[in-house]
Formats: sequence, structure tokens, C-alpha cells
Amino acid sequence: MSPLHPTILPGATIGVLGSGQLGRMFALAARELGYRIFIYSPDNDTPAGQIGDQEFVHAYTELDKIREFAQQVQVVTFEFENVHSDSTSAAAEFAPVRPDGRVLHTTQNRLREKTFLEGNGFPVTPFRRINSLADLQAAVQDLGLPAVLKTADFGYDGKGQVKITAVDQLDSAWRAMNGAEGIYEAYVSFEKEVSVVAARTLKGEFAAFPVFENAHANHILDITFAPAAINPQLAREAAELASGILKKLDVVGLLTVEMFVTKDGRLLVNELAPRTHNSGHLTIDACVTSQFEQQVRAVCGLPLGSTELRRPAAMANLLGDLWQNGEPNWAAALEDPFVKLHLYGKAEARAGRKMGHLTATGDTTEEAVRRVTEARQRLLRR
Ligand code: AMP
Repeated sequence: MSPLHPTILPGATIGVLGSGQLGRMFALAARELGYRIFIYSPDNDTPAGQIGDQEFVHAYTELDKIREFAQQVQVVTFEFENVHSDSTSAAAEFAPVRPDGRVLHTTQNRLREKTFLEGNGFPVTPFRRINSLADLQAAVQDLGLPAVLKTADFGYDGKGQVKITAVDQLDSAWRAMNGAEGIYEAYVSFEKEVSVVAARTLKGEFAAFPVFENAHANHILDITFAPAAINPQLAREAAELASGILKKLDVVGLLTVEMFVTKDGRLLVNELAPRTHNSGHLTIDACVTSQFEQQVRAVCGLPLGSTELRRPAAMANLLGDLWQNGEPNWAAALEDPFVKLHLYGKAEARAGRKMGHLTATGDTTEEAVRRVTEARQRLLRR
């Protein structure tokens, strides 16, 4: 580490922008390593704030508050990417922001992100910028149907996106955008979805976790397992893609690359997230180093930890829907001693809200998936 960038050692304070479950699990990992954690978000008694040493409750747009926060920490990272670059710039006046605001700026807008990827030769599905109904009609001419129309900004978990299969849907699809800028993407008829969570340090040291395979339900991640059921050559390609992207973006910290595996066995990048990822939660129980510890190490300038998977593993998300008929039966889920429960401390269980997850390990991924799925079903036992 150069004198300009001293290693941020345990005992120092890490600031986190954002206060959800990713921040909570990051804070838990940071505390294990002996760091202090300050959390900044507009909310009170948050999943991350419950673990942190201090919770700063202000809007992300209150730049003076962000500056005050940054003055009290040695490094700032984030767990939520919809923070405006003005806020990260304000923080950067007083503490390094990792990954830096440029990475955030590129990845928080789907058009900027896909343009960056395409411009640097990373494989993506063909896309067009949409600012009018005429743009949309032209895109259909160019790229054909089916397609997915997404808002360029602030989309996650399938929010702000619609699949278009016929030209008579164009009017209503455009109206649903409410004048927001959009991206039209050729529909990928994929075999499966995978992700690579990877870390990079200031010195350029790089480490990727094994490829995760992801199954979604209603556009929300449902089950992840590792290692992904893909051939070793494709797994290497996925890690190389991630390595190329982190290097090109000059990421210091973590970045997740969500990818499609096409029916003819190619990889296409769907989305980047400059942070830990829901698909990486199984690393807590199944890898030598969790994605959260890796984020701590990467942003503090410590050497990266091994990403080795100790055993095949599977993770199942627990959405608020599970609370529909009362508190889930936690004891029943844990009847299998290879199942681990993680709850995020959220008071209100709303449908579709990520409340926690279960992880199971096994001798094979099939066994891990079966265990975690059965454990989740047992939650509903009365
Ligand atoms: P996103 O918000 O971009 O991550 O999209 C959420 C989910 O929608 C993805 O995980 C895919 O299952 C699906 N999806 C997104 N874009 C496409 C596409 N171009 N073709 C097919 N499916 C897509």
C-alpha cells in the first residue's frame, strides 16, 4: 500500500451509505474484523443500523450531512447504488469512496452501463436508447420482438420493466414509462442465469467467487446454488469476464456481474452491481471468506481472502409473503442441522420484501437445493 493510500486497519471506522440487509451483513463482517461501522441512510432502526455503531439518519441529498459523516470515517463504501454522484463526490472530499463515484455513476443507469460494456467489447444483448414512442417503434424495426423495455434509472428486481411481444403493446409500454428514459433490449432466450461476485484491490489484486446459478420467481431472486451447473470452460470465461470488467472500471471493492447463459452456451452480461449481491449470501456459510468480509478487505486495502467453496451450497430467499398467515415456523426450518437461518431485522413483512434467507450445504448442489427448499417449505408448517 502506498503512503498515499495507507491500509485502513481494524479499529478504524468504515462508513456505509445505505442501510439494508447488504449493509447489515457487511457490518457484521466488519465487526468480526474489529472495525467500527457508521451507517448513513434516510431511515431509522434499519437492518444495518441495528448492527452499526452509529446510525446517521438523513437524506442522501443532504450533502452537508454526507460531508459530516465522511469526516468521521476512514473509508466510505455503499450497499445501495441509487445514491447520486453528488453525494459520493461530497463524501470523497473527506474519505476515499470505494468503489468510487465513477463506478457508481456508470452502473446505476442501465444505458450508461450497457454502453460501457458494449463499447469495451463485453458481450451484451443488442439494445437501443428510448426517449419517445418513435424511438420505440424504430427499435422494434431494428431489433425485432420479443424485447424487454426497462427504465434506464432506478430499476431493480424487475421493477420498471415490461416484456413486449407484439407491436400493439408499444403504446401502453411507452405510456407506462411516464416520460422516463428507457432502454429497449432484445429478449434473451436464456438457458440459465448466473452471477460472478468479484473483488479487486487498489493494487489490482483480483479474486472471484465460484459462479453462482440463480433462479428467479416473479423477477425476484428465489434460489441460488453453487457451484453453477455449467462446464468448467464457461465458468472460467465467466470469471475472466468479471476480471476484465472490474479492471476496466478500475473497481476497488466488490462488483457483481449478472449474466445469461444462452441456449447456445454463450455468456451475455445482463447487469452490474458495484457491491455484494443477493446471490452471494451463501458465501457466509459455504466459503472460506464471505462476500462481506471480502468487501471489508478490499475497501480497507487488506489482502483478499480465499473464495474457495468449502461445500456445495444453496440459498433460498425469505420474502415477506411467508408471513401471510403469521410468524413462520423457524424451529421447523432448522430441524435440518445443515440449514442456517439469516434474518435481517425488518419490522414489517410486506409481500415481495426480502426479510431473510436460508442457506444449506450438502455433498452435492442437488442435496443442498433440496435441503434449503424443504426447509423453506417447513416454515409454513403450523
Ligand atoms: P434486471 O432488473 O435487468 O436484472 O432484470 C430482472 C430479470 O428479468 C433478469 O434476471 C431476467 O430474468 C429478466 N430479464 C432482464 N432482461 C432480460 C432480457 N433482455 N431478456 C430476457 N430476460 C431478461
